[in-house]
Amino acid sequence: MSFTLHGIAVSSGIAIGHAHLLSHSSLEVAHYVLPKQFVAEEIARFDAALLATRSEFAGLRSNRPSYAAAEFDAFLELHQMILDDPLLSIGPREMVEREYCNVEWAIKVQTDALAAQFDEFEDAYLRERQADVKQVAERLLKQLSGQPGHQPTHLRHDVETILVAHDLSPADMIQFKPQQYAAFITDAGSATSHTAIVARSLNTPCVVGLHHARELVREDDLLILDGEQGVLIVNPDKAILAEYKLLQSEWELERKKLKRLRTARANTLDGVAIELHANIEKPEDIVEAKENGATGIGLFRSEFLFLNRDQLPDEEEQFESYRAAATGMKGQPVTIRTFDLGADKQIKGVEHVASNPALGLRAIRLCLAEPQLFRTQLRALLRATHYGNIKILIPMLSCVSELNQTLQFIAATKQSLDDEGIPYDREVKIGGMIEIPAAALSLNVFARRLDFLSIGTNDLIQYTLAIDRTDEDVAHLYDPLHPAVLHLLSHVIGTANKLGVPVSVCGEMAGELAYTRLFLGMGLRQFSMSSAQVPSIKQRILTTSLPEIAALTQKILRADDPMKIRELLDKLNA
Ligand code: PEP
Ligand code: MG
Repeated sequence: MSFTLHGIAVSSGIAIGHAHLLSHSSLEVAHYVLPKQFVAEEIARFDAALLATRSEFAGLRSNRPSYAAAEFDAFLELHQMILDDPLLSIGPREMVEREYCNVEWAIKVQTDALAAQFDEFEDAYLRERQADVKQVAERLLKQLSGQPGHQPTHLRHDVETILVAHDLSPADMIQFKPQQYAAFITDAGSATSHTAIVARSLNTPCVVGLHHARELVREDDLLILDGEQGVLIVNPDKAILAEYKLLQSEWELERKKLKRLRTARANTLDGVAIELHANIEKPEDIVEAKENGATGIGLFRSEFLFLNRDQLPDEEEQFESYRAAATGMKGQPVTIRTFDLGADKQIKGVEHVASNPALGLRAIRLCLAEPQLFRTQLRALLRATHYGNIKILIPMLSCVSELNQTLQFIAATKQSLDDEGIPYDREVKIGGMIEIPAAALSLNVFARRLDFLSIGTNDLIQYTLAIDRTDEDVAHLYDPLHPAVLHLLSHVIGTANKLGVPVSVCGEMAGELAYTRLFLGMGLRQFSMSSAQVPSIKQRILTTSLPEIAALTQKILRADDPMKIRELLDKLNA
């Protein structure tokens, strides 16, 4: 049967391929009855998984990273206790013996029972420990499946494959890089979640927020994904298929044409030079950045070096990564952001359980709370400055005391390098991300102490409009054109320009054609975006005259009716 679903378009392009379903949670397991002779074998599987999970905990304990907070031990202890609870360590065994069911099902039933006990607690903290129960059960189930994480199991190489998942974390998504999926589809997610950002950087069509795709699509169904319109067509008829094949080749042709702009300068019609930089997650991404004509790296999200691993990268490994990016860009600027971990990007084993992760210990807050981890990164970064044009960017600043502490950390790290006679760029530029309304509204104090500013629109919108950027239920409220957002953006760009402090935008808005002229009209001269978006943004700049857009931009900024703003923006882009 053919049907169509609509979601949020996050990475453009048209993909045609066969569905590969990913279980959205290890807790979503099948239930079946075993022939009696297999019961002993099933119990042996459970015993082996229990043993393996216990030794996994022992390994985590003995490899406890030196920087890890005392909470790490407490966290392990709690998980160990949950695993040892009779409901989990004995219950599944008894249930398999009694009911001849598969052990995964028995674990799921026992986990639900244990989680329900936590539900009874009055104390909110204890109630939230249900999440820990589920994490422990997932560890057990992963041992049973023999394949931890969201690893694709059987990728067919003879056909294009489209991955269909309930949800994917940014860490999951970045692992798919070498897998060459034709497209990604998720039920959850929003346009500026880090998962969506990584999909965009993979240059793979992606639609999120489809709500029920994972339930409705079957393995191997033929799918068409339109990453521009956010449309998924399941089992299309011949005519639709032919139409989309045509659209797909037209789209590819258009991309090839745009790539010819690679070496052209991004100048406006009236001759003003605009810098177009790329956002990257790993040093190897600079190849694509250069292929698309980026003249620098405006945002290296260094935290991706820390994901999907048991041991964190040490100073030497980080130094090599930062140096590789710097030398690869051959003197062009490489802006490396200190790690923005926390919220949706957790390091294995030291997850900070926060009741509201986006407002919790994230980015610079986590750096300052984990000084050893931060110092290691700063040493690696400063050492790498000797080999290229590296700038250091601090994420999620909200108040001046955080900035002062950070600058003290940097000064102390420079001193220790001096003491050891290790070279670094003494003039290294330190910038700050403006992504919290408080920082935007008290910009002067940040601008006075920093060498450059970079506006993170993804978070600025999240925090201004109070919408969790990873939550599809409020994704419809994500509105870059909200008058409050436009006011903050033009205030930051205008103030920075007045003070003579370089400012760029590195959030997803920078890569959206609809906003290029608006930003230019506000006075922005530097953009940073996913590599694949550089050519089309360059083309828009080449066809824009700054004097011609000035009056209309001011009109947009004065408007407060959302419909009027959209109408004026359409005129600006016409
Ligand atoms: C932003 O918030 O706009 C930004 C660029 O940072 P990130 O998306 O990594 O939070
Ligand atoms: Mg951000």
